[in-house]
Amino acid sequence: VIHAVEILTIGDELLLGFTIDTNGAHIARALAPIGIAIARRTSVGDDPDQIRAAVSEALDRTGAVITTGGLGPTTDDRTKESIAALFGRELILDEGHLAWMRDRWRKRFDRDLPEVNRRQALIPDGARKLENRHGSAPGIWLEDDRGRWVAMLPGVPREMRGMLADELLPMLQARAPAGAVIESRTLRTTGVAESRLGEQIERGEPTPDGVDVAYLPSVAGVDIRLTTRGRSPRESAELLDRAAHVIGVAVGDVIYAEGNADLAAVLLDRCRERSLTIAVAESCTGGLLGARLTAISGSSDVVLGGVVAYGNSVKVDLLGIPPATIEANGAVSEPVVRAMAEGARAKTGATLGLSITGVAGPGGGTDEKPVGTVWIAVSQRGSTECSRLQLWGDRDEIRSRAAQAVMELARRLVVQGG
Ligand code: ATP
Ligand code: MG
Repeated sequence: VIHAVEILTIGDELLLGFTIDTNGAHIARALAPIGIAIARRTSVGDDPDQIRAAVSEALDRTGAVITTGGLGPTTDDRTKESIAALFGRELILDEGHLAWMRDRWRKRFDRDLPEVNRRQALIPDGARKLENRHGSAPGIWLEDDRGRWVAMLPGVPREMRGMLADELLPMLQARAPAGAVIESRTLRTTGVAESRLGEQIERGEPTPDGVDVAYLPSVAGVDIRLTTRGRSPRESAELLDRAAHVIGVAVGDVIYAEGNADLAAVLLDRCRERSLTIAVAESCTGGLLGARLTAISGSSDVVLGGVVAYGNSVKVDLLGIPPATIEANGAVSEPVVRAMAEGARAKTGATLGLSITGVAGPGGGTDEKPVGTVWIAVSQRGSTECSRLQLWGDRDEIRSRAAQAVMELARRLVVQGG
């Protein structure tokens, strides 16, 4: 029974940082649902000694290794020969595979198989081939007499994913711990710092034993990830339900979704349920808020449109803000953000007006209004709620956080409104 494996991703480009190791992440996510944990993830360059050492250590530690990369035809592809040498196996020409490759080249590329590609038909003695439906290099499964094994997959993500799903996962599933799975659930929050969420959860009812709680911050907010390991699917679901409930009570209505839902989609759903419509007025985000909302398919029954009111003249001419309001308070101010949200509603007839004005930086900050000062507002019939934020990060991050913040303010007001 396989409880844990190590992942070894191979390639100089991974160490240089030009390629991000998405293969390792993909494999980890694919193994969790069948109850196999990842004991360690390692990356090494295209160097036979490094590959051999890394595989040897992983076999000693964990006895089960999945590699990606270095199965191609070129001289920088050294995975197969390095690992075959470690297992003390010869490379043997697989005539059947060679014939298949020759055929493939003639049919697909209308030419003879290049001599270098012959190397891809070399298979370590006693290995099992893993079929590659998206490329020419087969994967390799190599196992020693103590049951320790290495599965070698291609580096090209599309080929790797296909082979993992078609060939390796079914093999691993047959050896996975019966009935045990690794399950995760994500609670999405925004606008509350990680440390504060942590405090609130600590102070609340204890989360059930057997559930790991992780805090994952990004510009979208903090995701609270709950994970159970080594339990049956039913037990996992019960534990996760209980943990989600306890945490929901502790942190209140800052959880806007479970899973990977986008806040924009959640806001649109809440509005659609209540037949509300939205118009936006954006200064420092320059259309980002409108783009976030309209990126969601089906948004047209909620979103009417908006104004990118970057310059003051546009704030005056298209949103009807009195010039004196801007002169007296500056464009980044409560009266202006309020007038923007109300103007967006008035000009479009939307039920909700959302507005943003702020200093996204890196220039333009003052002592009174430093970079990251952002005003947001949501206007409804009879009331307009404004909020001053002090956001951090670079220009992109400040703009993203501003758009996220005004959508969250709108979501809360809509939900509270019943
Ligand atoms: P090829 O036959 O194309 O040479 P290969 O199995 O030898 O395939 P590599 O040469 O290591 O694989 O990688 C091929 C490409 O796949 C790389 O250029 C890189 O863009 C991508 N790649 C490799 N490893 C990873 C990884 N761990 N995560 C994401 N992409 C990767
Ligand atoms: Mg290669």
